[in-house]
Amino acid sequence: MSRKSSEHIVIVGAGAAGLMAARELARAGTRVTILEARERCGGRIHPLSSSEFGYAADGGAEFVHGEAPVTRGLAREANLSLEEIEGAQWIFDGKTLAREELDPHEAKLHGVLKELKDDLSVADFLRRHFAGGEYERLRHDIALMVEGYDAADPERASTLALRDEWMDGGHSPLARIIGSYGGLVAYLAAECRRHGVAIRFGSVVSAIEETGGTVSVRCADGEAYACDRVILTVPLPLLAKIALPQAARDKAAVAADIGFGNVIKILLRFERPWWLDWKEDLGELTFLLSDETIPVWWTQRPSKCPVLTGWFGGPRTAELSRLDPQALIAAGLDSLAAIFGLPRKDIERGLVAATATNWAHDPFARGAYSWATPQTREAQSILERADGPVLFSGEALYRGRDMGTVEAALASGLETAKMILRG
Ligand SMILES: Cc1cc2nc3c(=O)[nH]c(=O)nc-3n(C[C@H](O)[C@H](O)[C@H](O)COP(=O)(O)OP(=O)(O)OC[C@H]3O[C@@H](n4cnc5c(N)ncnc54)[C@H](O)[C@@H]3O)c2cc1C
Repeated sequence: MSRKSSEHIVIVGAGAAGLMAARELARAGTRVTILEARERCGGRIHPLSSSEFGYAADGGAEFVHGEAPVTRGLAREANLSLEEIEGAQWIFDGKTLAREELDPHEAKLHGVLKELKDDLSVADFLRRHFAGGEYERLRHDIALMVEGYDAADPERASTLALRDEWMDGGHSPLARIIGSYGGLVAYLAAECRRHGVAIRFGSVVSAIEETGGTVSVRCADGEAYACDRVILTVPLPLLAKIALPQAARDKAAVAADIGFGNVIKILLRFERPWWLDWKEDLGELTFLLSDETIPVWWTQRPSKCPVLTGWFGGPRTAELSRLDPQALIAAGLDSLAAIFGLPRKDIERGLVAATATNWAHDPFARGAYSWATPQTREAQSILERADGPVLFSGEALYRGRDMGTVEAALASGLETAKMILRG
């Protein structure tokens, strides 16, 4: 589609992808309107109140994964610094809490992964190459990683995509933006406004219509916006909720080949870091992995803020779908009590603030982030084509290594804008 000099572009969603695309387009002189369903920017980046947690806690995205060149570049522009996370990972095996040790089969796993030519699901990969009883621990840990970290289903997740993530990406240290991802969103939103982007909150887009070369974006409150093109950055499960012109609807159908996972995230702020009483070495604790109901926990290391974050990701989060935030917080406290062998009331006594979000219940996310199946790259190449007035962008469209991240969203938004500007 060729460009008109007076083109008006509507972007649906003021998350990382929408804001990044908007800034790039507006900087080049394009008229841009962002329609955002929530009353805030950031989408799945969701900073919480500093007064509650003692620091600008992240209810959604928190870590910077891998090299993340777009994120790091933007942070530099915004004068935000990153802090690397180093320390020790601990494991609770149901009986003992101990520092994580390397799996004896790790080298063999890497060797087999390196030789892999054709993609298959992670579950099939493990059945084919690591079926023996001696690999039970390895199979268990990989399933935990795929479900917990990638929020993915091992029966559908792509082994080749995970190979890239584990083997090539494992060298850049994990980091956080000091002052939270919220600083990045605030900077981008200010940049957008400075370049004339109109950001409309409370605008829930319900339909995009195309008649005789005119595009109209309709909102649930009855407002309609005429434009030349639309960039849809909504999370994948929300695509089906928006009525689209037939060609765009047909194209959107391939999104079924991209996985989308859920996460439950719990933040618990305590009066003091009581876990240090349990064992001095825990001063270096970063991540703690277990098989409890809320299986993964992490500290704010290197910050000494006495906050523990609980995390449960993947398809099995559906088993907790009936729990409200209070019940999730109680489940989190029970898990910590089991891991540390302490009465729950002892842990609860020092609790100062707590929050829990099951992201599947968020009406404008319906889950956490996407993950790759063996069919995903093909689906992405169809979705990213600029062959009509409706374009798709966002973390799920990113074809690089760390899909499902803020970097993926920023890079995808930037790429969509550049594609439009190239004409
Ligand atoms: C709990 C959690 C933890 C995470 N942790 C990390 C992490 O540590 N590191 C990392 O890099 N990534 C992490 N992620 C993933 C990261 O947050 C996302 O990949 C990224 O923020 C997605 O950006 P986006 O712009 O593609 O989508 P979104 O941020 O979802 O933006 C889309 C926007 O569209 C809006 N919208 C939806 N429907 C409509 C509609 N009908 N009309 C108008 N607007 C609509 C939404 O409100 C939203 O603001 C995490 C995500 C979650 C949920």
